[in-house]
Amino acid sequence: MSTQPTGANWGFTTRCVHSDRLGDIEHGGIHKPLHLSVQYGYESASELVKVFQGEAAGFNYARQGTPTVAALEANVTAMEDGRASLCFATGMAAITAIFTTLLKAGDHLVCSRFIFGNTNSLLGTLQGLGIAVTFADATEAANVEAAITPATRMVFVETIANPRTQVADLEGIGALCKQRGLLYVVDNTVSSPWAFRPKSVGASLVVNSLTKSIGGHGNALGGAITDTGLFDWSNYPGIFPAYRKGNPAGWGLAQLKKKGLRDQGASLSSEAAHHLSVGSETLALRMAASSASAQALAEFLAAHPKVRKVYYPGLPDHAQHARAKKLFRAQSWLMAFELVDEDDCVAFIDRLSLPIVATGLGDTRSLILPVAHTIFWEMGPERRAEMGIADSLIRLSIGLEDSRDLIEDFGRALEAGA
Ligand SMILES: *Cc1c(COP(=O)(O)O)cnc(C)c1O
Repeated sequence: MSTQPTGANWGFTTRCVHSDRLGDIEHGGIHKPLHLSVQYGYESASELVKVFQGEAAGFNYARQGTPTVAALEANVTAMEDGRASLCFATGMAAITAIFTTLLKAGDHLVCSRFIFGNTNSLLGTLQGLGIAVTFADATEAANVEAAITPATRMVFVETIANPRTQVADLEGIGALCKQRGLLYVVDNTVSSPWAFRPKSVGASLVVNSLTKSIGGHGNALGGAITDTGLFDWSNYPGIFPAYRKGNPAGWGLAQLKKKGLRDQGASLSSEAAHHLSVGSETLALRMAASSASAQALAEFLAAHPKVRKVYYPGLPDHAQHARAKKLFRAQSWLMAFELVDEDDCVAFIDRLSLPIVATGLGDTRSLILPVAHTIFWEMGPERRAEMGIADSLIRLSIGLEDSRDLIEDFGRALEAGA
């Protein structure tokens, strides 16, 4: 290759499949090799010292990264149009690092009321450690604004909430956080950077569970944090003196890397990073296909007399339909619905033959489960009611099956009911 590719003007998938060419091509291999070494050696002690002191780029111990993980981080950064990214063993590990390394006892967090169940549970743990949390209906920025106190440091929202698909007021909250100087964290797992870039609404940090849209094949866990470069870390009180060095733009991620990844140890393995990188190359193709299938199935279900309500942002009667259409290139693979006959939810699922009865999201296979009885069981009826989760709610994650086959299967299962 005589000219070094720059990637500046490339489209989404071109950037993605060629992101590792922006570094060296090792031994001419056109696919990034898998680096399994835990230790990284240097020619001289002074070189090792430079790496330890952050004066030279390099690897030292795989808990803080490997070349395979770094290639995935560069790829996520390109997809999110960010400044830099950091990968973790799971999406939850990435979220845990954000809350525990950027907040401390006495700080206050405003969190969307509609969030992933394990994030909700984690916040219970943090409240026990002295971090105050207010849950707000984030579909309106005014509700977030009303929850802000002098101790508020951070606002946390999801793009399309699981399972009821509420779409946060992403632009309004972005403007609010900018005006108040608050750290704005957006979990982009369900939309994926192909359908939406949180940087476009002013997000400071973006979280992706790589396990879902980006990896896409249900064969590896992973999580990533991307710093969009928009937040001014020089004014953030929670940065330890050790990381207040050099360009302030890098302080937040430096602290997340040392206090989060290095000390907490939830590191992504090279094997998982490799699977996730290969999966990421078809993100745009898969998201387009699964979103189109989800739209077709949502329309079919919404028109069916045995279905009471379908929650999918691509439907005109969705409470945030106009916002979702404006912000997102596609409405993703997540939907939920309720049957007219409430008692039929579990029996109905058993009449389907294509979707697999399983927890999990963003797989090549469609996955289905009764929500209140499974993933939202532990939180109890009160919190379920607050989150709008009826006992009869069914969650669906649409895979890559031909949509005609999905519609046929759902049609048959509905007709076969009482
Ligand atoms: C799955 C999920 C997570 C957690 O990701 P894991 O990789 O499973 O730990 C976080 N946020 C959202 C919105 C998710 O769907």
